[in-house]
Amino acid sequence: MRPEIKKIVIDPEFGNAELPHRIAEKLALKPEFMTKDELLDEIRRNPGEDLFKTAKKMLFFTENKGRFLKKCPGSKGVVCCNYYTINSVTGCPYDCSYCILQHYIGNNPFITVFLNKEKAIEEIVSFLAGNRFLRVGTGELADSLALDHLLDESGFFIGELSKRSLFDRVQFEFKTKSAEVERLLEVKDLYPDSNIVAGFSVNVPRFSAHEEPGTATLEERMSAARQLQAKGVKVAVHFDPVLMLDELFNDYMQLIDSIFSRLDPEKIAWISMGGFRHTLALTETIIERNPQSLLLRGEMFPSDSDNKLRYLAFLRRRFYNAFNGRISRFFKANPPLYMCMEKAFMWSDMKMPFPEDVFRNNK
Ligand code: SF4
Repeated sequence: MRPEIKKIVIDPEFGNAELPHRIAEKLALKPEFMTKDELLDEIRRNPGEDLFKTAKKMLFFTENKGRFLKKCPGSKGVVCCNYYTINSVTGCPYDCSYCILQHYIGNNPFITVFLNKEKAIEEIVSFLAGNRFLRVGTGELADSLALDHLLDESGFFIGELSKRSLFDRVQFEFKTKSAEVERLLEVKDLYPDSNIVAGFSVNVPRFSAHEEPGTATLEERMSAARQLQAKGVKVAVHFDPVLMLDELFNDYMQLIDSIFSRLDPEKIAWISMGGFRHTLALTETIIERNPQSLLLRGEMFPSDSDNKLRYLAFLRRRFYNAFNGRISRFFKANPPLYMCMEKAFMWSDMKMPFPEDVFRNNK
């Protein structure tokens, strides 16, 4: 089911921008005009029953005064995979129990959509003046596709790359927990030579059902992934966050079987696995908002380098090895598998090819 949007607010400076008016018309909503401060005031005076629910149903259109293109911040002491992100939207209609965006809701109780995206394209062009290739995605502070039927981010970015003949120099990933691929399929039809990767974040169904409210089911995500593969779009699979609990071990093995028995391994760009890691502040949020969460089970310890809590190394090794072995059954050669936000010692323990090798083969 598509997320519900109940309110459209436009920064008065951009009152005539076409996109928000088009979306308002599509949703039969009357757009309102407010500055960010005015909107914040209004929401603080009337947050509704639950501020989170209010925030996730509201789109605020304005400009981004900062940079769009950034290197993925990663974490101190972990192996970097050289990924770049474009934050053209911040905020998300979903409400995952582990989402870091929960911390920003007080200052940004809405989904912000930036209207000056041409600037992001200029930043890409200037990056390419000094670099041969860019691997980039929009899914760091938002779900890339959950609202694509309204925002048409895929059409915009791929269309602009086409105008500049950049398909051989930019690989664009749309990372999602939705099955919202209608527009992406059209975009691939329009630009058959585009270098698009559709990244699906996945987890065991009994976790997703309770802790990723609003997102598509595994069945729906896999059906969307198959449609994309049939159209020639490469698919990525992200196992993140992996909850390294004994009680979920078999569920993860079944999850792997169920995914890779349905997808074409030849059309898988890459696969990532990342054990659940989080800040102490996020623990407090989880306790407050989701006291029954599976995220709170199991022992976790603060890391020396980035102070984030992680499962103990022996447990991470056990799960990563099991994932690697099980996923490998579906591939003739080594699967294009890497670990997300893992430390150098874990890479050497696991004897896995470093990210550059995984990505070099998938340009
Ligand atoms: S889909 Fe991603 S951005 Fe959206 S709530 Fe979940 S973790 Fe956060």
